[in-house]
Amino acid sequence: MKRMTIRKARCSCGQLRVACRGEPAIVVLCHCRACQMRTGSPYGVAAFFARGAVVISGTYSDYDRPADSGFRVLHHFCPVCGSTVFWEPSRRPEMIAVAVGAFADPEFPAPQKAVFEQHRHPWVAVQLDR
Ligand SMILES: [Zn+2]
Ligand SMILES: [Zn+2]
Repeated sequence: MKRMTIRKARCSCGQLRVACRGEPAIVVLCHCRACQMRTGSPYGVAAFFARGAVVISGTYSDYDRPADSGFRVLHHFCPVCGSTVFWEPSRRPEMIAVAVGAFADPEFPAPQKAVFEQHRHPWVAVQLDR
């Protein structure tokens, strides 16, 4: 029997951890302003996993905001270091989104699509996996 890949994401200080089993359903790069402000970076990248494939450990605080799409997004971040590690998009209630940067793994699958290109910083060039 082939063993499923387990990838681990964590916050900056390491107390909040997310283990994800198998391949992400989709990886999306988002140029929207909310992702810019959430990450402190010019864009955010999210990996979506089925809820059953995700195990969360550690404590987290919540931040609920409406997405540009109008659907709410419930973000979870470490109360110690402030890193947002995962969130629950109400548009895809069966999914957990995990911040790809939190895996700190250059081998992590590349995004298949980019959204909110209208807010892309002009110097940002991304290579999609398609
Ligand atoms: Zn932390
Ligand atoms: Zn975004």
